[in-house]
Amino acid sequence: MKAFTVATRRRTEFVTITRSVQTAVTELGIVDGTVTVFVPHTTAGITINENADPDVTDDMAGALDRMVPWDGPYRHAEGNAAAHVKASLMGSSVRVLVQAGRLHLGTWQGIYLCEFDGPRQRQCWVEAN
Ligand code: ZN
Repeated sequence: MKAFTVATRRRTEFVTITRSVQTAVTELGIVDGTVTVFVPHTTAGITINENADPDVTDDMAGALDRMVPWDGPYRHAEGNAAAHVKASLMGSSVRVLVQAGRLHLGTWQGIYLCEFDGPRQRQCWVEAN
């Protein structure tokens, strides 16, 4: 297993981690197969989406904000219930194909850590399947 840290800078932020995942795949020596990328947090998630136009992830963040407003009503006393809901909407892991030592993503796809209660230091774990 390989781990790396992502420092987020805003409450809501989609951070490209494709390069860091590729580095982990190389360090793990995976040539062909699949990897799981897992985010061990309850207020951050992970997703795969467009890597070309940054407006796409901005729009996703905006749509999630409209679906799950920061101000409740919520019961969770910590005050970050919206971040927990959004993290579960995105999910905690993605599984990606590896071919000839490279992540086998679509041309327009990138892997994103989705921060919903930043800024924080976040961990990503990468393991061969
Ligand atoms: Zn909480």
